Amino acid sequence: MNYRIYYDDGLSGNPYFKRIIKNAASLSIPAEPMAKYRKGKGNIIISENRGDFIKKCPGTRDFVCCDYYIIDLIFNCPLGCSYCFLNAYSESDDIVIYTNLDRLFEEIRALENNSILPYRIGTGEYSDSLFFDFLTGYSRDLVEFFSGMEKGILELKTKTAETGRLEDIGDPGSTVISWSLNPERIISSEEGFSAPLSDRLKAAARCAKKGFMTGFHFDPVVKYPGWEDDYRRVIETLAAAVPAGRIAWISLGTLRFSPAWKDTMKKHFKNTSLLYEDFVLCPDGKMRYQKKIRLDIYGKMLQYIHDIIGFVPVYLCMEPPYIWKKLPSCGAGKAPGFSFGVRRKGKNNLLSR
Ligand code: SF4
Repeated sequence: MNYRIYYDDGLSGNPYFKRIIKNAASLSIPAEPMAKYRKGKGNIIISENRGDFIKKCPGTRDFVCCDYYIIDLIFNCPLGCSYCFLNAYSESDDIVIYTNLDRLFEEIRALENNSILPYRIGTGEYSDSLFFDFLTGYSRDLVEFFSGMEKGILELKTKTAETGRLEDIGDPGSTVISWSLNPERIISSEEGFSAPLSDRLKAAARCAKKGFMTGFHFDPVVKYPGWEDDYRRVIETLAAAVPAGRIAWISLGTLRFSPAWKDTMKKHFKNTSLLYEDFVLCPDGKMRYQKKIRLDIYGKMLQYIHDIIGFVPVYLCMEPPYIWKKLPSCGAGKAPGFSFGVRRKGKNNLLSR
């Protein structure tokens, strides 16, 4: 991708802005003031976030929520997964990077002071957490900032192998680096410019060796003929790469999308193979596989994880209580929300198994 940076006025004294411009110059990425803005692919807007950096994951009514906090630090993602909600969420291809991290840190301190229980927070909702580190170096700033937090657990979620800038950090204690995983067949057909499975798992193995806890998200799990063998093999490869004691959590979620998103997917990803199954409209307005198919998928995935990896906390993403309750090994069958451990067991228990 050929990037071009446009920046807002008034940032010249900001150290994070200066770092981005310096990194851009070393990579010959052009940078100009916003007055020279021209629409195009690969545009990166450098600006200050004038709203709140931290948002509570909205969850969905009637669905079990995992009490997650989102950091709105970079908006939009060039990896281009066909199923990404950003395809329907944002009309613009522009990537927005905010530079007023001092205010972000104030918001995190306030959250820390006001939280009685441990909490999870991450940058991987509106973009890939690590992709833009070559320009921003933000992930390292965040890992270092969180090393002093008593209750906060930072999650950096990625589909890249871009962990090199983090691997020499002395105290990774409060950070979980996590990867979305899928069989190579789905990665190569649906996950755009993301890293191959083997590269993601090599990076995870390196991070685990360097003292990081890791997390893994099978989300979306996609059903197709032979999916069971493919996903079982991914779990075997994961187990061979990362010791169970270095895995903080695994999440499971099946393919889901809004009806409008389906049209966008068809338009922009003509070769997508995700839409051939039957889907039902759920109470939150999203299309999902039928309940019995989702239960079959979760039941099998849980079995593979427990047979191959052993005990690790597993939770479901955006599923209603009646699905949780049918899966006794996931949340003890009680749909207890944050059941996979952070709040019940405490942060240290979760991060130092
Ligand atoms: S990596 Fe995540 S944020 Fe980026 S396109 Fe894929 S799903 Fe969207």
